[in-house]
Amino acid sequence: MPHRPYIVGNWKMNGSRAMLAEARAIDRAAARLTDVQVALAPPFPLIAALREAVTAMGVGGQDCHQQPKGAHTGDVSAPMLADAGADFVIVGHSERRADHGETDALVRAKAEAALASGLAVIVCVGETLAQRDAAQAEVVVAAQLDGSLPQGESAVAALPGKIAVAYEPVWAIGTGRVAAVEDVVIMHRAVRARLVAAYGEAGELVRILYGGSVNAGNAADLLAAVGVGGALVGGASLSADLFLPIVAAAASATEA
Ligand code: PEP
Repeated sequence: MPHRPYIVGNWKMNGSRAMLAEARAIDRAAARLTDVQVALAPPFPLIAALREAVTAMGVGGQDCHQQPKGAHTGDVSAPMLADAGADFVIVGHSERRADHGETDALVRAKAEAALASGLAVIVCVGETLAQRDAAQAEVVVAAQLDGSLPQGESAVAALPGKIAVAYEPVWAIGTGRVAAVEDVVIMHRAVRARLVAAYGEAGELVRILYGGSVNAGNAADLLAAVGVGGALVGGASLSADLFLPIVAAAASATEA
């Protein structure tokens, strides 16, 4: 694993102030395991409280609006996330793409808005099971990247540290089904090729995370796979007991 691994927990629409105790426990481990970059993305109402509660880990949003402000009831902008203490935002998660009809162009606009606000971004891509079964997985993911990756001056200035890609096969999210390591390696190689096509040499250094039912039992194999720069973790990020073995596996992968 050539880069400092990045392990990000996505709490989705879960959590309450009571769960800040889990975050504090994760943060204490993050302070010890400095070879791993650790972050959590809680629901919007917990961002400021989480920022106050932790010192070593990153804090992020799960989405942002593409506009900085305005008449968009219920939405949250990238400057608002930054103001609440977030360092990064996840954009284009498959649940946003499916539940809210987010297109690649919208995901790109959100990513560019985030970078312009000083946030880092994690751009999510991934194929459905039907697309994989039709041998379209690489084509689909390449098209998502070509349409979703941020462009322009703010993107170039953010490279490589403030842009990450999460490859998350939709069929592996929250299902307990994990992609085979060899398929992950093949897809991460394909993602790298699109990153280099988009950003030139700087695209070599952008971290590519795997996401989809990562847990204590499979993290070591996935994180040791060629091209995997970390993990985006949903269900197993909701408790320190489940999340910390994944962080520890990332730390071990740096020593290998
Ligand atoms: C996710 O939400 O990005 C995710 C990968 O979820 P899970 O780990 O629960 O599959």
